[in-house]
Amino acid sequence: MDRLQEIKDTLKNYKGETIRFMEVCGTHTAAISENGIPGMLSDNIKLISGPGCPVCVTVTAVIDRLTELSMEENTTVLTFGDLIRVKGSKYSLADARALGGSVEMLYSPMDAIRLALEHKDRNYVFAAIGFETTTPVYAMVLEEAIKRDVHNLKLLTSLKTMPQVIRWVCKNTNNVDGFIAPGHVAVVTGSDVFKELSEETGIPFVVTGFEGPQLLAAIYALTGMKDKAGIKNLYRSVVTEKGNLEAKEAVDKFFEPCDASWRGMGLIPGSGMRLKSEYAAYDAGSYGLDEDHMPPGCSCARVLTGEIAPNECPLFGKTCTPEDAHGACMVSTEGSCYNYYISGRTSKN
Ligand code: SF4
Repeated sequence: MDRLQEIKDTLKNYKGETIRFMEVCGTHTAAISENGIPGMLSDNIKLISGPGCPVCVTVTAVIDRLTELSMEENTTVLTFGDLIRVKGSKYSLADARALGGSVEMLYSPMDAIRLALEHKDRNYVFAAIGFETTTPVYAMVLEEAIKRDVHNLKLLTSLKTMPQVIRWVCKNTNNVDGFIAPGHVAVVTGSDVFKELSEETGIPFVVTGFEGPQLLAAIYALTGMKDKAGIKNLYRSVVTEKGNLEAKEAVDKFFEPCDASWRGMGLIPGSGMRLKSEYAAYDAGSYGLDEDHMPPGCSCARVLTGEIAPNECPLFGKTCTPEDAHGACMVSTEGSCYNYYISGRTSKN
């Protein structure tokens, strides 16, 4: 029998006590649904999604500030992907655009530089949202802005880092027996970060990629590591122990750790990155954006910490669907509500 089939059979026929593994990364959440992984597992192996979808964990104060800026004269807000549809306390960036605000979607970060150079009389604000994976991109944009003497481009930062939020999950919930570590983040940070977290929390971590067999191998490895601290790196082709030193240096040049507010979790000390004071001229007013107003009835806060599965939210699939999303977790293609909805996944599979 081939090795993959052996893994599949073991996971399907597992009859031990119920174990719960959290995938922290939104891209893993999407890959788990796309590959139908939950249906390949025994009922005694539960997968829960964690707070690793950057759009989902962005508090409404950040979106409110961006919508306000988009309405200012001579100012355009630049953003990637799904953020445009996430509601702030009142409006999303898409709403703001419909009401006359200036908002542009970017497909490449360097388009921000191009736009700023092409329209020197206009101010641009780049919504800098993301985790360790994306922060080097913003560092690259700043490097280029300085090199090309661009002064009409600023960042509104809501950058997050993984270690502190994982500590928060371990401290405030008691429902994780193992973590599928965020693969893309690990490329930058290195696997040693998760080794330290495992030693500290006593919970095992497996670093893996985004293909179905890689995810199955990670779940299989975690099943064998239950109750034992430790780390396995199954993504050695791109993840080293120390990570991408060049990317880390680029980030350290422009950013420093700070406290950060997370949707559903509040302020978590040391869980974000902000621009260093010497680059304050490139900041569009990112400080103090901590308020969060969840849409009425939305359970994103409980979904993001794995307390409930998305389909256990009373609004799931009723008044909240991808076409008419109530909360951020249903907007983003990395959000767990979105992925449960499009794959037909439930907490039972
Ligand atoms: Fe929020 Fe919709 Fe998810 Fe419920 S289903 S938690 S309302 S995003």
